[in-house]
Amino acid sequence: MYIVQIASECAPVIKAGGLGDVVYGLSRELEIRGHCVEIILPMYDCMRYDQIWGLHEAYLNLSVPWYGGAIDCSVYCGWVHGRLCFFIRPNSGDNFFERGHYYGSGDDNMRFAFFSKAALEFLLRSNKRPDIIHCHDWQTGLVPVLLYEIYKYHGMGTQRVMYTIHNFKHQGFAGADVLAATGLGNAAYYFDYARLRDNFNPFLLNLMKGGIVYANFFNTVSPHHAWEAHHEKEGYGLGHTIHLYQYKFTGILNGLDYNIWNPEVDNFIPAPYGIDSYEEKANNKKALRERLLLRDADKPLVCYIGRLDDQKGVNLVHHAIYYTLARGGQFVLLGSATEKKINDWFKHEKAFLNDNPDVHIELGFNEELSHLIYAGADMIVVPSNFEPCGLTQMIGLKYGTVPVVRGVGGLVNTVFDRDYDQFHAPGDRNGFVFFNMDNNGLESALGRAIDLWYEKPEEFKKLALQGMEQDYSWNIPGDKYLEIYDLIRYKYPSLL
Ligand code: ADP
Repeated sequence: MYIVQIASECAPVIKAGGLGDVVYGLSRELEIRGHCVEIILPMYDCMRYDQIWGLHEAYLNLSVPWYGGAIDCSVYCGWVHGRLCFFIRPNSGDNFFERGHYYGSGDDNMRFAFFSKAALEFLLRSNKRPDIIHCHDWQTGLVPVLLYEIYKYHGMGTQRVMYTIHNFKHQGFAGADVLAATGLGNAAYYFDYARLRDNFNPFLLNLMKGGIVYANFFNTVSPHHAWEAHHEKEGYGLGHTIHLYQYKFTGILNGLDYNIWNPEVDNFIPAPYGIDSYEEKANNKKALRERLLLRDADKPLVCYIGRLDDQKGVNLVHHAIYYTLARGGQFVLLGSATEKKINDWFKHEKAFLNDNPDVHIELGFNEELSHLIYAGADMIVVPSNFEPCGLTQMIGLKYGTVPVVRGVGGLVNTVFDRDYDQFHAPGDRNGFVFFNMDNNGLESALGRAIDLWYEKPEEFKKLALQGMEQDYSWNIPGDKYLEIYDLIRYKYPSLL
């Protein structure tokens, strides 16, 4: 099968979070199985050019219709750790992808509407006719809309679209100007509730809703979150749309690329280890302490790695630091905040705790350091408010770092409480779970984890090893995506 992924991230060249890991990991898995995969990305000025091999101009003068005229683009091509990627670079005064950041501009909707249009224009002009176009999140929600409303009539009538939603909270809102710019036109038609009109604000177009309505199949990134988005508030207003299209909706757990996230072959850690050499993990703990100037003492090391925002339960992350210290543990935090208020708060904490030999706060994005933390810590906390899938707990499991998580979204599908899980045998349990989104809730799980570490170290090790044995690779999710690709290729004709 010939599959083209259209996305705003692909790790490690462009990574703001799990989306980047998934685009890379899924593409790799599909290629291993013999499929041809290409990835189309924006060419940001701030991406990691050192992660691209053989970057060269592949298509000159791609003229992308935009408003009444056109924007001239260059398309570059290169290999990102073996994946063939095409980068779209518009040559216009808008500087859509030359802002020093991936997201966060006032005109993000226009930037990514342009990207969606340019990606399809590139496929059309370069005569690429994939069997499946797989697009991701609100940034590419317009891809199926444009395909079935415009490009279908230009010789792209057999392409089928899979649309994966990694985060319902960010849906991409726009006004009629996006219709004018992309050539969709006809505002009355698209402002219909059955098409792109936002379910709650009649004056806005909802790009994610467009993706859902027009895609041949859509999914979110874990079975439990699929249920939450359909039936609870986690759909952020799209529950009814999901309900209408439930026949083409499912939840597929993300996989982990065990070539990258695997303590046996990880180049970023000083002491590789596996299930049979778990003792080596202690050397990584030592190295982590040395690097972060933490004291070497007989204490459990708890970590948090992730964005610092409301979704991730930032208040509980903060509480976890002080609770861990109070319980005689050490804490390492690696996180980045986009909101100034949260950033300032953690900067203050960092200054306040600077001389404490049991805690380190690292603010920023640091891929290399994250590997050492996963390998060196004993536990990882993930106290999310909502969590579509969550990769950090799965990485923690592979590194024998016991997850302490809130029971929501994909965390429900991956972490099973050592003491209270009702559906898994004791030998299949792998962590600690709490439900209440408050300090007591967090303490009820983190406290049990710290107790076990101090009081029954052999039991703690057994739990960590049970987690390491579990398979959260792309093996199973790879099958599931391929099943859906096949389904929409052969059974679902064009929906509209
Ligand atoms: P998100 O909601 O951000 O997508 P996930 O748990 O799905 O959360 O994925 C987070 C990914 O980003 C993981 O690979 C994690 O290691 C990585 N990550 C998050 N924050 C940082 C950071 N500050 N530095 C390095 N890696 C990070």
